[in-house]
Order: sequence, then C-alpha cells, then structure tokens
Amino acid sequence: MARNKRLLLLPGDGIGPEVMAEVRRVMAWFDKRRALGFEVVDGLVGGISYDRHGTPLTDEVMALALEVDAVLFGAVGGPKWDHLDFSVKPERGLLRLRKEMDLFANLRPAVLFEPLIEASTLKPEVVRGLDMMIVRELTGGIYFGTPRGIERLADGSRRGVNTEVYSEAEIERVGRVALELARKRRKLVHSVDKANVMESGVLWREVMTALHKAEYADVELRHMYADNAAMQLVRDPRQFDVMVAGNLFADILSDCAAMLTGSLGMLPSASLGAPDGAGRRRALYEPVHGSAPDIAGQGRANPIAMLMSYAMMLRYSFDLADEADLVERAITGVLDGGLRTADIMQPGKARVSTEVMGEAVVSELDKLAA
Ligand code: NAD
Repeated sequence: MARNKRLLLLPGDGIGPEVMAEVRRVMAWFDKRRALGFEVVDGLVGGISYDRHGTPLTDEVMALALEVDAVLFGAVGGPKWDHLDFSVKPERGLLRLRKEMDLFANLRPAVLFEPLIEASTLKPEVVRGLDMMIVRELTGGIYFGTPRGIERLADGSRRGVNTEVYSEAEIERVGRVALELARKRRKLVHSVDKANVMESGVLWREVMTALHKAEYADVELRHMYADNAAMQLVRDPRQFDVMVAGNLFADILSDCAAMLTGSLGMLPSASLGAPDGAGRRRALYEPVHGSAPDIAGQGRANPIAMLMSYAMMLRYSFDLADEADLVERAITGVLDGGLRTADIMQPGKARVSTEVMGEAVVSELDKLAA
C-alpha cells in the first residue's frame, strides 16, 4: 500500500537507536499484517555521524531528508561529544535538518493515558481524558528577530536586546496548520498572543481572524492572552483542542502542557514544513526527549514517545488515521495490562525493558487486529 513511500530513519545517539528498534518492530508488524510497507532508508545523525564523517550531518543525509516523504528521528548528543566546537556538536545536525527542511510548525500533543493518570501533577478529575495539541511557530519570532545582541551603553552599562517579529505570511502559514488540524479533531482553535501589549500580537490576531473568516468558518476560533492561557492550562486543560502561538509563548506553554501528562518518555512531536506543488509536506517526527546518556545501553528507555511519533507520522504524513489509532490503542492496552518501563513505574506494576515493552505493543496489535 505504501511501498512507494520513502522514510528516512535517523536513530542518532544514546537511547535513540534503542527506541528506534521498537519502531522497526511495529513497522514490521504493519508490513506483515496490513501490507503497509515503507521503503526505508537509514542514515546517521549526531555524534555517531561526527565519529564516522567528522560532521553531525553529511550533505548526503541532508539531501535524502529533503527527498523522502517523512523523517523519523531518534535523539542526538551525549557527554562524549560535549567538548566539540559548537559548529560540529551533535545537536547541530538536528538544527540543520529543521532549517533546511524549513519546518516552521511544531506539533506537540498532550494526551493523558488513563492508566498513567496518577503520574500527572494535577488532580485526576482535572486531567482525565485530556487530548490537546499545541502548534508552535518554530522558525520565526523573538528567537530569530533582529536587532538582537548585548550592547554597551554610553554610561558603560550593558543592554540585552531581542526583537519579536512576525510577518503576515509567517502567521498565516502556521495558523493554517492549526486550523487544518482542528478540522480533523474537535474543531476548536485557541490562538494565543499578547495583543494587549504587543503590536506583533495585534497583527497575529488580525491575520488569524481574517484567515478564519475567509476559509475556516466550520472551525471555532477563540483568542486568548498568553498569560491567561498558562493559567487556563493548569486550571482546566480539557477546554483546549488545538492551541497555536508564536515561538516563545508556545515554547513555554507546550512544556507546561507536556508535564500535565507525566513522563518525558511518553511525549512525541512532529515538525512540518510547507506543502509542495503535489501537496506533500516535509515532515520530521521525533520524541521530545533527548539521548538520555544516563540510561543508554541498559534496556531502560521507554520506547512509547518514539512509537507515538511513528503514529503521528502515519496520521499526518500519510493520512492513515486508523493505523495511527491502532498504535495508540495498543499502547494504552499494554499500559492497562500493567507493564511499565522504569521511568513510569508505579507500585504493583510490572517493570519491563525497552524490548519487552516493544514486544508487548506488537502482541497487543495482534490482539486488536484479531
Ligand atoms: P534527556 O531527555 O536525554 O534526559 C532527561 C532525563 O529523562 C534523563 O534522566 C533520562 O534518563 C530521562 N529520559 C529521557 N528519555 C527517556 C525515555 N525515553 N525513557 C526513560 N527515561 C528517559 O535530556 P538531557 O539529559 O538534558 O540531555 C541528554 C543529551 O540529549 C544531551 O546531549 C542533550 O543535548 C541531548 N538532547 C537531545 C535532544 C534531541 O535530540 N532532540 C533533545 C534534548 C536533549
């Protein structure tokens, strides 16, 4: 079915290859049971690429990333490479991918798995059933705006400057991603800004309102100030479906939303670029966590964030919502059955390795498909 679709797998460093191995296991299941085989290309990124080629990302791998239908990324970095110059540090590989693929929309879901409800810092009755998506503008805003820097003033003291800048085109393209996503979900978008004190926020609100009116009348659009959004996220997070904001606000809000659901080992993400003429979007899917050098090589990594990233790929790059649902239901089933990796361990549950968790997800897929 998807044989003509090409995937680039970049496991990277530390626990990256360990969690990617479990994705390969689930991919093999879909290939065998659902004839859903992708053409898979493997590549190096991060420290392992530096060791082999003297760079965290070769031009060949970069070119492949631009050619394929989607990229699955593990994690990069580790103490072995900490002494390297900034220009060749493992993390530069990921930054180059994001930049050259022009991945301007970062999608971070916050979904509560019922069996892990106790892991949330909020009360069960506040977070039960939470299922929201934060869309972060990733390539603009105050992290990139100019003028920027630290300057010396006439009196000898120093001043730090950063500039929040958004063009209409930048706001519109990320707003469109959020509105399109909402169409496939509960049809509600909260657009977050500080239009009360920032001109860039006034423009953000105007562009979102105009886009909504012109093309997305079937979706409800609400505006919210960023400070209120932070408060509402911990007060009543279930009021949200899709939230969209600029780079800075969404950076903070997405970390806050993520922690509502418990562990780092459970959080996937997607980064999307603009669609090309044929409607194909550049896309990179990766867990939120890093390479976890403290547990690498010990079979202790939780593969669920990586598996959920794979499910996001099925849903957003290939429109395979049923298959994505199946992966998510299999994960819930395994957690319901009481299996836990060390990071999400709870009293009375069975602690298992990365590999056993991956095998259990495949067994659960077998059960669900029977
Ligand atoms: P980290 O996410 O790697 O680890 C933070 C803590 O969470 C550690 O205790 C780790 O054991 C635990 N953890 C993370 N993922 C887990 C999983 N799947 N299962 C179980 N436990 C998990 O962050 P860090 O320690 O700050 O960074 C380690 C290295 O990773 C650094 O070199 C950093 O630069 C890099 N990093 C890479 C990325 C990326 O590749 N996107 C992101 C963040 C950090």
